Amino acid sequence: MMTMAIEVVSAADRKCACGHTRSHEMVVQEPEYTLWGWILLSVLGISAKPDHIVFRCTKCRQKLGVSRDPALLDRQVNAGAR
Ligand SMILES: [Zn+2]
Repeated sequence: MMTMAIEVVSAADRKCACGHTRSHEMVVQEPEYTLWGWILLSVLGISAKPDHIVFRCTKCRQKLGVSRDPALLDRQVNAGAR
């Protein structure tokens, strides 16, 4: 059984070890899915809406927080459409 821990970080101006904020080009938005969303996506090939977005620095891999902004989630669905 797969467990998904969701760590909610709320500070918008949080910086990673390299000093990058969410808006920095080295920081990417990674969609994360619920177990059901993940099944839809990987097993059935349906583009599911992510549960939330994780802001992650590509250099140090540190998480800069999560977002549940519907506009961001929709953008991820469109970007991931095959
Ligand atoms: Zn970093």
